[in-house]
Amino acid sequence: MADYDYDLFVIGAGSGGVRAARLTALGGKKVAVAEEYRVGGTCVIRGCVPKKFMVMASEVSHALEIAEGYGWSFDNARFDWPTFLEAKDVEIARLSGIYAANLGKAGVELVHGRAVLKDAHTVEIIGKNQTFTAEKILVATGGRPWKPENLPGIEHAITSEEAFHLPELPKRILIAGGGYIAVEFAGIFAGLGVETTLIYRGPNILRGFDDDVRAHLAGEIEKRGIKVVLGCQHEKIEKTATGLVNHLENGMKLETDVVMFATGRIPHVKDLGLEAAGVELNDEGAIKVDPYSKTTADNIWAIGDVTDRMNLTPVAIREAAAFHQTVYRDNPQHFDYEAVATAVFSQPPVGIVGLTESEARRSCSAGVDVYVTRFRPMKYAFTGSEERVLMKLVVDAESQRVVGVHIVGPDSPEMIQLAAIAVKAGLTKAQWDATCAVHPTMAEELVTMREKQSGATSAG
Ligand code: NDP
Repeated sequence: MADYDYDLFVIGAGSGGVRAARLTALGGKKVAVAEEYRVGGTCVIRGCVPKKFMVMASEVSHALEIAEGYGWSFDNARFDWPTFLEAKDVEIARLSGIYAANLGKAGVELVHGRAVLKDAHTVEIIGKNQTFTAEKILVATGGRPWKPENLPGIEHAITSEEAFHLPELPKRILIAGGGYIAVEFAGIFAGLGVETTLIYRGPNILRGFDDDVRAHLAGEIEKRGIKVVLGCQHEKIEKTATGLVNHLENGMKLETDVVMFATGRIPHVKDLGLEAAGVELNDEGAIKVDPYSKTTADNIWAIGDVTDRMNLTPVAIREAAAFHQTVYRDNPQHFDYEAVATAVFSQPPVGIVGLTESEARRSCSAGVDVYVTRFRPMKYAFTGSEERVLMKLVVDAESQRVVGVHIVGPDSPEMIQLAAIAVKAGLTKAQWDATCAVHPTMAEELVTMREKQSGATSAG
């Protein structure tokens, strides 16, 4: 180490980079982390956290509708976007400050600026005339939104990054994409009273999710007022005196005030100097790593979205911990990507863990048993709402283990965290059923489903 400025130099102070830097510094190593923007990364600054605040702000309109059914009245209820933005930004600044303070408490040196690899042991901070050497380097630069740059008029479209700071709430928005971000932001804007259209190129939203979830959610978000246009793409976006006209392949022309592209995120590898350090990319343009997050350079590791394995904050944090154990604790560990629960904060939200029915049919040789229930949540009893909850259990017919849980409905992200324990532990349907219900709740349905969907047990 004597030859280097640091034992470990981390590039990127997001969830993964911060965790790895802190653990390593607390273990007695000399650590620096470089960040070109604000400490906290995508999750805290322009992702999960501000998005969840926006979801919570938006959900209030629905809560008010329900409340009216219970006899409340809100004659002057109104939403003020600038007030919300200010409160959100104050909280994000507070959280970012906590991240930075925690780095300091652990003894990590924070370097403000864009770090670029000059060789496998050297980073330069661009524009600051600073160069540091390190025995080991961890790349945790995350990802960034991608939009189709060759689409005529794409310069008029925003991404999720700008959606967090719109100077005013638009009257109309069109969102392109059918993944997590598109569906979440469609719900946010619709809940805030914006006339919202979702355009997706495929046959149904949330490709890769269970087909029942996809169909159910598409129906539910339409009930919340979102116009969903499927099987259709943009031809061009045209700016006119009155707004942005979206010319679609099917001949439709839709005028809106804001167009947002949520067409995926790509690993943040541009101009990082990876080649100079011997760090290779895979065919998808992400940093190539082995199961222990080691890159093709012997002293360089990479974690989080920049490796495009499973782009979720808690996964990046676990990858950071595994990196630390492997490299500094002589305890080789890699993260287990099986049965990771995830939530889509659509309105209503989705919580899932484990296999979809079609994945289970492919992997369970004796077939699967499927249990499905759809019902109106009790809290809508007085509102006339047609909203329905979907709950689905996918069970390996041979072992009787519950291998997939899929929920669309209020509080499903909270429910799925607990269901994930049972799925991860490999509990059987009989063990779920032996668990006594909590009544009256929605979650009790998870332990009271007795009727197999007819014809469900069959191999794929
Ligand atoms: P996703 O990959 O989830 O979705 C991208 C969407 O854009 C897909 O519907 C895709 O269609 C569509 N698309 C891609 N290219 C084009 C194109 N050229 N023209 C039209 N449509 C296109 O990406 P997101 O940006 O929504 O989210 C990125 C990742 O961030 C997620 O996968 C997730 O890992 C993470 N995330 C997690 C959240 C959470 O945990 N709640 C919230 C937000 C993000 P197709 O399906 O046909 O390919």
